[in-house]
Amino acid sequence: MDFSFSEDQENLRSSVREFAKREIAPKIREMIKTRKIPDEIFKGLARMNLMGMTASEEYGGLGADAMTTGIVAEEIAKADPTMSIPVLFLVDNAWTNLINKYGTNELKSEILPDVAKGKSIVGIASTEPNFGSDIGSMTTVAKKNGSKYVLEGEKAFISLIRDIKERSGGFVTVAKTDPSKGTGGVSLFYLPYSDRLDISYTEEMGREGSSWGSFRFSGIELTAKHMLGKENGGFKIIHEGFEFARGLIAVISAGAALSSINNGVEYMKSRKAFGSEIAKFQGLQFQVADDVAKMEAALMMGYKALWTYDQEQKYGRFTRFQVSKQIAVAKLISTTWAFDAISDALQWQGAYGYSRDCPEEWALRGVRSFQLAEGSREIMKMIIARETIGKEYIK
Ligand SMILES: Cc1cc2nc3c(=O)[nH]c(=O)nc-3n(C[C@H](O)[C@H](O)[C@H](O)COP(=O)(O)OP(=O)(O)OC[C@H]3O[C@@H](n4cnc5c(N)ncnc54)[C@H](O)[C@@H]3O)c2cc1C
Repeated sequence: MDFSFSEDQENLRSSVREFAKREIAPKIREMIKTRKIPDEIFKGLARMNLMGMTASEEYGGLGADAMTTGIVAEEIAKADPTMSIPVLFLVDNAWTNLINKYGTNELKSEILPDVAKGKSIVGIASTEPNFGSDIGSMTTVAKKNGSKYVLEGEKAFISLIRDIKERSGGFVTVAKTDPSKGTGGVSLFYLPYSDRLDISYTEEMGREGSSWGSFRFSGIELTAKHMLGKENGGFKIIHEGFEFARGLIAVISAGAALSSINNGVEYMKSRKAFGSEIAKFQGLQFQVADDVAKMEAALMMGYKALWTYDQEQKYGRFTRFQVSKQIAVAKLISTTWAFDAISDALQWQGAYGYSRDCPEEWALRGVRSFQLAEGSREIMKMIIARETIGKEYIK
């Protein structure tokens, strides 16, 4: 067992940490006010080659694996408690990675160079107004008409929708190509943004810089060029995208919580009550210790999950089910414990903690999204139970 990162990974971590401290952290308040990711942050991420970094080098990316992408995600999460930039980074890279692996060469040459330059963004549009967890009950269809697929449907609660629109990006989307076959009749497409998508926005609880919303579409024609993998083979492939994203969410949540714990501890050292710094109260010290222990364990599980993902992708060392389980364990504990740890860090800061000025208040609302997005905590439990008890016991 070797728990160390490579020298290149350590160098990447330091340069991203520096960049995030210098160019992301000072812009957070502006982002909260304007509810928009400042353009300078987009430019900085692009300059650092962090957008589309999972695209292969031939398309201008870094060909980054999941572990390396996780290191960047953790550092960005420590700089942006709202979770807006981590979401931009994780969604763009997880779904770029899927396109890079399963997209046609024509599609990749067309879109990935701009994604890698940060000019364009890739999102995921799976959820519909009447389904989220249960992909089999999707109603969006892609009807074959000669060499074309004609898409009709509606997608809901889609992250980064405004940014994707403004940057002429697109969505990995999912549609039924053979409705008679249930999940075996589902295909994945890259759906480029166009004004044929009838967009509406939804205000979310946190992640102020991000945007969220739905779109309806009908009569959108795509071709085999836009398909990821094989026709009717989308159900398996989409889970590889979710797993990449879930692994990143695990390290992001742990990174954000560890950062909040540090903020809380700094506050404790300067705040006095009953004649001493509140940091001297063992009741609080033990909470700090519990939270640090949990979040360091969660961070480690996050990296183990990303490592397992890479081992399966590169060397076929694990089965897909083993990867899903490892990822589900990491996402479940990290997102649950992070929310609790951030809530403790808010509590240590008394009334100030509950104010809109306190980064822990931003973080609490941001990190809460991860118990739902890219697979809810209950779905993570279903995966772990399925792999532990057996498929035949899952309804
Ligand atoms: C902030 C945010 C960003 C998002 N961004 C995107 C995006 O970019 N693209 C996208 O496609 N989707 C996105 N989503 C949607 C997200 O993927 C779904 O919310 C999630 O998959 C759950 O689906 P649902 O909301 O339809 O809940 P449902 O599937 O309707 O479930 C409702 C509740 O029941 C629970 N549940 C469901 N089935 C079971 C079961 N068998 N046993 C026990 N409990 C169960 C769920 O866990 C949930 O708590 C986002 C969601 C959020 C909150």
